[in-house]
Amino acid sequence: MNMKILVTGGCGFIGSALVRQLSELSNTQICNVDALTYAGRLDSLSNRSTRAEYSFQKCDIRNSLQMARIFKEFEPSIVMHLAAESHVDRSIDGPKDFITTNVLGTYELLQAAHDYWSVLRSEEQYRFRFHHISTDEVYGSLGDAGLFTEDTPYDPRSPYSSSKAGSDHLVRAWHHTYGLPTIITNCSNNYGPYQFPEKLIPLVILNALDRKPLPIYGKGDNVRDWLHVEDHVEALWTTVQKGTPGETYNIGGNEERTNLEVVETICNVLDEVKPHSDGSYKNLIEFVSDRPGHDKRYAIDASKIKSQLGWTPSISFTNGIQRTVDWYLNNEWWWKPIRDIAYSGVRLGSTKNK
Ligand code: NAD
Repeated sequence: MNMKILVTGGCGFIGSALVRQLSELSNTQICNVDALTYAGRLDSLSNRSTRAEYSFQKCDIRNSLQMARIFKEFEPSIVMHLAAESHVDRSIDGPKDFITTNVLGTYELLQAAHDYWSVLRSEEQYRFRFHHISTDEVYGSLGDAGLFTEDTPYDPRSPYSSSKAGSDHLVRAWHHTYGLPTIITNCSNNYGPYQFPEKLIPLVILNALDRKPLPIYGKGDNVRDWLHVEDHVEALWTTVQKGTPGETYNIGGNEERTNLEVVETICNVLDEVKPHSDGSYKNLIEFVSDRPGHDKRYAIDASKIKSQLGWTPSISFTNGIQRTVDWYLNNEWWWKPIRDIAYSGVRLGSTKNK
C-alpha cells in the first residue's frame, strides 16, 4: 500500500533521523515540512536513501493557510509532528517562540489536519493517524525513586516542558472532542548523530575536541534516562503503525545516568580513541551555576510500549556513546559551520532571568 507521511520538523535532530529511516521504505512518499530555524539543517538529510519519494516544504507550522495547502496537495495518511522549539535553556532566555510554535503551532496543525481528515472517505478517516511526538519532561521531576508512567499527572516546570504539556493537552482534546485519530508518545532524552551542539552530549564532545571547558550544571547530579535517537525512531514507527488512537505511550532507554556520569563517559571514550598529550579530557570538566528550576530526575517506565506494541531499545548507552563520539569525530563537515557561525557553545539559560 502506498503510504504518504507528512513529517513536521524533519530537518531537526530526531526528525531528520526519522526521515532518514523512512527514506529506506519503498511505496512511501514523505513530505517534510520545516521552517528551518537555527535548529533545522538541510545538511542532515544529504546522506539519505532515495528509495522513498521525498519532498520538502519550507513552511512554518503556525502558517494556517500554507499548512492547509500542504494537506490538500499532499493528502497524507499519516502525520508525524516533531516541529518544536526544543531546548530548555533557550526557553529560559526567550519563552515566546516556545509558546507560539509548540502550543499555537500545534493548534494550527491540528486544525489543518482536522479540516482535511473530516472530509475524507470513512475508510481513509479510519486509517489516518496524527502522531504527536512529545517529551517525558511534561511529567515534572522525580525524587530518587519511581518512574514516569502514562498515568503520571502532568507537572511541567520549564517554559519548554509547559509548552509541550500544553500541546499534548490540545492533541488529546482534538481526539476526544472531534474524533481525530491521534497518538502521543513521551520520550526521554535522546542522543546520537546530527544533534545540534547546544545539547549536553554534542556540546561536551565538541568542547573537548576544542580543549574548551566542559560545563556541568550544579553538582552534576541531575539524572536523565538516555535513549539513542535510532531507537527512538524505531519506537515512533512502531507506534504509528500499531498504536491505538487516543492512547499515549512512554518511550525510554532504561539507561539512567547523572550528568556527571555522562560527561565522564564521553571523556573516557575520547581518552581511548583520541588521547591528548595534556592528559585526560576529564581535566576540562568545570562546574558552573545550575540551570534555574533544574529538574532533578527523569526516568521512564516503558513497559506499555514493550508489552502492547513489542518495542524495546536495542542500543546500550555504552555502545551508543561510542558510536556518537565516532560520528562527531568523522563528520566535522556537519558541525564545523554550526560551531563557527550559528552557535559557538556560549552559556544559555543562566540565572540572569531569576
Ligand atoms: P530540534 O530542535 O533538533 O528540531 C526541531 C525542528 O523543528 C527543526 O528542524 C526546526 O527548524 C523545526 N521547527 C521549529 N519551529 C518550527 C515551526 N514553527 N514550523 C516548522 N518547523 C519548525 O528538536 P528535536 O530534538 O529533534 O526534537 C523533535 C521533537 O521531539 C520535539 O517536539 C521535542 O519536543 C521532542 N523530543 C525531543 C527529545 C530530545 O531529547 N531531543 C526527547 C523527547 C521528545
